[in-house]
Amino acid sequence: MKLKNERTLAIEAAKKVGLIVTLKGWVHVRRDMGKIIFIHLRDRSGQMQVVFLPATPELYQTAKTLRNEFVISVTGEIVKRGAKNINPNMSTGEIELKATRLEILNAAMTPPFDLDETIQVNEETRLTYRYLDLRSERMQKNIRHRSQVAAFIRNFLTAEGFIEVETPYITKGTPEGAREFIIPARLHPGQFYVLPQSPQQFKQLLMVAGVERYFQIARCFRDEDQRGDRQAEFTQLDLELSFTNETEVMDLIEQCYTGVVKELYPQKKLTRPIPRIPYQEAMAKWGTDKPDLRKNKHDPDELAFAFITDFPLFEYSATEKKYVPVHHLFTAPQDGDEALLDTTPAKAKAKQYDFVLNGVEVAGGSIRIHDADLQRKIFKILKLTDEEIASRFGHLLRAFSYGVPPHGGIASGFDRLVMILQNEPNIREVIAFPKTGDARDLMMGAPSVLPKHILREAHISISKQE
Ligand code: ASP
Repeated sequence: MKLKNERTLAIEAAKKVGLIVTLKGWVHVRRDMGKIIFIHLRDRSGQMQVVFLPATPELYQTAKTLRNEFVISVTGEIVKRGAKNINPNMSTGEIELKATRLEILNAAMTPPFDLDETIQVNEETRLTYRYLDLRSERMQKNIRHRSQVAAFIRNFLTAEGFIEVETPYITKGTPEGAREFIIPARLHPGQFYVLPQSPQQFKQLLMVAGVERYFQIARCFRDEDQRGDRQAEFTQLDLELSFTNETEVMDLIEQCYTGVVKELYPQKKLTRPIPRIPYQEAMAKWGTDKPDLRKNKHDPDELAFAFITDFPLFEYSATEKKYVPVHHLFTAPQDGDEALLDTTPAKAKAKQYDFVLNGVEVAGGSIRIHDADLQRKIFKILKLTDEEIASRFGHLLRAFSYGVPPHGGIASGFDRLVMILQNEPNIREVIAFPKTGDARDLMMGAPSVLPKHILREAHISISKQE
């Protein structure tokens, strides 16, 4: 039976003395204080103390059966706490819910770790029970702030005239230096799709398509040995503009990210102005192209952004015995440096810019080549054969013969950005379902062996199983 004026609310919306309210959530802790039973009820918005008194025996008996993480619905009146019970550390610390009705929606086993102490728990256990780990205050904050940062960026770019376009995940590779995940094409025996390392070619083709301003918060896939803080799949804020230049792209990402900080992290100290430092100067001064320009590297709320510009277009790879692109093979040389491509390519500079935050690269981009002949010349310098050019990039060169606007863009490691903003030590802490260092999903049990008939359908035969 519904009480008069009763409302179902989230805890944070129910902070009004006298309100008759139904709250739904999880039992965070239960304390029996002699005759009175207290619980802290937790929902997506916060926690509320709930009191069960023996004066209502049936209710009290049910409350006695409550254990941590039971899912309940509880109705009652919001009342002031007695002076002795006020908790200044809780946003609802001056009030509590005096329960008049209780329904157990679902019972729960005792969790394998204390949700208030996950910092002590080893990561394998946290990842195996990620759905419980995500209930902790720390992880709730991380995933909720992540969502807010993404929403801010979407609004900012939409207001700047960008549209979000989803590009395919099952496609042909856009080689940018990393190994690709491959997918057998069941309908085309012997042929394969790959998961994209980035939407690079698609976003350039969207410029050919007249979109002019594109962005996407896109998943990227790189089948690399999982060194340190990398993930096989990660998220990029990816954007591309037509009729643009380096300054405009840098201004845009600078305004977007300083906007994120001002709006969502006002407690952080932004080091201003944000310098734009030529690569040579950065290397000479700090010996790195990712300088950490924080004045005090120990005060956690300082954010020191910097752009690094004027990178060389190529570097010589002693192992591959050829030039390789410093950024990627679609990056344009600086104006006036094109002649160097025929004589001393190593001296040519690129229209490339990296965005660094506290010594970590958070974005990188470039103005692209939009001329088919120049693109072919770069492929040749990189020692691609005519067949390779035709089979891997024929579609791009063909598109470039139908009126392509000058264009450029940038992509930003979204996980890394949120990691730094949230003061977390690694990106796994800001990804809802990350993989382990050796690319396993401990909760789902991936990768896994597949039944033979499924492999047969996908035209896969395993030559040697370890
Ligand atoms: N696609 C590039 C990357 O993933 C970024 C860009 O040039 O926009 O690093």
